[in-house]
Amino acid sequence: MELLIKKGKGERRQSRVSSTLKDKDKRFLWHPFTQMRDWQEEDILVIERAQGVYLEDIQGRRYLDGVSSLWCNIHGHQVPEIDRAIEDQLKKVAHSTFLGLSHAPAVELAEKLIEISPKRLTRVFYSDSGSEAVEIALKMAFQYWRHRERPEKKKFAKLTLGYHGDTLGSVSVGGMDLFHEIFSSLLFETYAIPSPYRYRWPGTRDTEKVKEESLAAMEEVLARHHKELAALVMEPLIQGAAGMIDQPTGYISRARELTKKYNLLLIFDEVATGFGRTGTMFASDQEKVSPDILTAAKGLTGGYLPLAVTLTSEEIYEAFLGNYGEKKTFFHGHTYTANPLACRAALASLELFKKKRVLERLRPKIAFLRSRLEDFYQIPIVGDIRQVGFMIGIELVRSRETQEPFDWNDKIGIRVIQKARAKGAILRPLGSVIVLMPPLVMLERELSRLLEITYQSIKEVSEEIKRC
Ligand SMILES: *Cc1c(COP(=O)(O)O)cnc(C)c1O
Repeated sequence: MELLIKKGKGERRQSRVSSTLKDKDKRFLWHPFTQMRDWQEEDILVIERAQGVYLEDIQGRRYLDGVSSLWCNIHGHQVPEIDRAIEDQLKKVAHSTFLGLSHAPAVELAEKLIEISPKRLTRVFYSDSGSEAVEIALKMAFQYWRHRERPEKKKFAKLTLGYHGDTLGSVSVGGMDLFHEIFSSLLFETYAIPSPYRYRWPGTRDTEKVKEESLAAMEEVLARHHKELAALVMEPLIQGAAGMIDQPTGYISRARELTKKYNLLLIFDEVATGFGRTGTMFASDQEKVSPDILTAAKGLTGGYLPLAVTLTSEEIYEAFLGNYGEKKTFFHGHTYTANPLACRAALASLELFKKKRVLERLRPKIAFLRSRLEDFYQIPIVGDIRQVGFMIGIELVRSRETQEPFDWNDKIGIRVIQKARAKGAILRPLGSVIVLMPPLVMLERELSRLLEITYQSIKEVSEEIKRC
């Protein structure tokens, strides 16, 4: 109370508004991936505005956006070019259906996407989220083999530590037991290939050995089951949500060779890795690999609006052509498919990649991050640091010698990000992996501050643990 009295009139009102908002949030809402009982106890953060690489809460505190507002922001917030593109489109039409009608923003964006994506990909199918894009990829692959008169090819191979979204199909091809165990009886059966997780590979941590052994395991699964396999689904170069598990160089090329050899489709889920996140427009570009199907979403609109795409080869597209009565149609679509505002935002974002030379400017910043991250090994609980471009995972462990992991109940990641929040950066961990995934436009000095905050936060938690 005393504190309140000392404040000015404006601040008093603001603090009242903020507590009302927080109370109402706790009364009316159910947040994703959140234990709501804990939420009730927390002093929750309510974001009011954002500018550039900063988020601002209703109390006027500013935070570095350290995870690109969940991996999707590219050019920062309130980007004049994207704002304007959406405003201009608003003056024409906010939404009209894509079922049986078309519009310029969707057509123009499709043309651009085909221009910049791996060369095999020539068709664009729109949806609204990454999960849907993957769901669509699975259904397309399944139906493709029907049309090719190979109906027995209806199963999917996947990597053990994959994440492809939260709908039942995308969960089926995911591998994160923690989130999905409870739904297991609702999921379809898949063949799992061990992810090339170097830090925890049994028997060795040598990159070449892990690569050899994990690819041998991949071939074994494909060789044994190819007759019933429709496709292999995987995140290329780095598995995001499992904890930023990077793949050895050559891994995705070999996955391409093997899927060709055993005659199944290759689906690359680039929902996280797409649009510059790994240093190239798509992760596939780094080894010049063309999958048969590619999904993208998160960064597509620069982090502005929900939009996703499933890109496919002409061969897959053509398999669905036929007489109306043959029912070869792809029976799938959503109400907001190809929303014009979202397509305009995406077009503006892609323009900015060129105009601001985003990828070119990324290179020195990626190198800067790599050199600075080395320092983190000075903290005893840092077990492994993984980086692919602007995707970074810092795995915390109880003991570096034994690699003993922290327990889920230690909430180690949460403790670190709470400290980071108090120091002015928003992060979101994946279990005991601290994730850094800044907007691509973050400048070196801002990156430096983000690293400093992260470093101090991990160090403080490390010291607390040593004490008890
Ligand atoms: C986030 C993510 C998804 C799911 O996307 P949503 O838009 O959250 O449904 C799918 N695949 C990968 C690789 C992702 O990182």
